[in-house]
Amino acid sequence: MDLHTHTKFSDGIGEVWDNAAYGALNGIRLVGISDHIHYLSFTNLNHYLKDIERAREESEIPILAGIEANIMETGVDITDEIRGRLDYAIASVHLWFNPGESWKYVELVKLAIQDKNIDIIGHFGNVFPYIGYPSREEVMEVIEIAEAHGKAFEISSRYRVPELDFIRECIKRGVKLVFASDAHQPEDVGKIRWSEKIFKRAGGRKEDLLFSELL
Ligand SMILES: [Zn+2]
Ligand SMILES: [Zn+2]
Repeated sequence: MDLHTHTKFSDGIGEVWDNAAYGALNGIRLVGISDHIHYLSFTNLNHYLKDIERAREESEIPILAGIEANIMETGVDITDEIRGRLDYAIASVHLWFNPGESWKYVELVKLAIQDKNIDIIGHFGNVFPYIGYPSREEVMEVIEIAEAHGKAFEISSRYRVPELDFIRECIKRGVKLVFASDAHQPEDVGKIRWSEKIFKRAGGRKEDLLFSELL
């Protein structure tokens, strides 16, 4: 699967159906379209969902309607209304913090996990090399909260996060995972080899993936 792909509806370059076609071509059995929420005004969202519907009709593999929302200081920028029209929602931190402020990042992610409109946390920890790494206790708490709320984490081939121990802990606790290319051009949809490799190394099986029933 590849549940994190962008199109021209946000900062990607391809059409929705190109993402679907390349996903199938690259051997993927499930593609999710997850454009950035702040590009999708009301009219655009209608158009976006219509294109996903069309791609779904033409595609030989299942196509899911997702979105990538932003985890802000004030919470996640998604509404019940928008979430109600989608199959799933990813929430990612795109804010920048100063070195030593990873605790702020972690606090925001904890809030996002508890947001009922969110299903998956995107590229967890991709900025830790710049802002510093949280302690093991802080990270374990994040996984515990995800377990309690039934939320999933993506394994990002683009950023190569999260790390092996994190993924192992998710699997141990029944926290679901998804594979993510974070493709911004159709050719890159389905390039999830790193995700798959580390997931297998961590002992992951099909049932540890979100939407495994569609695979
Ligand atoms: Zn992102
Ligand atoms: Zn993205």
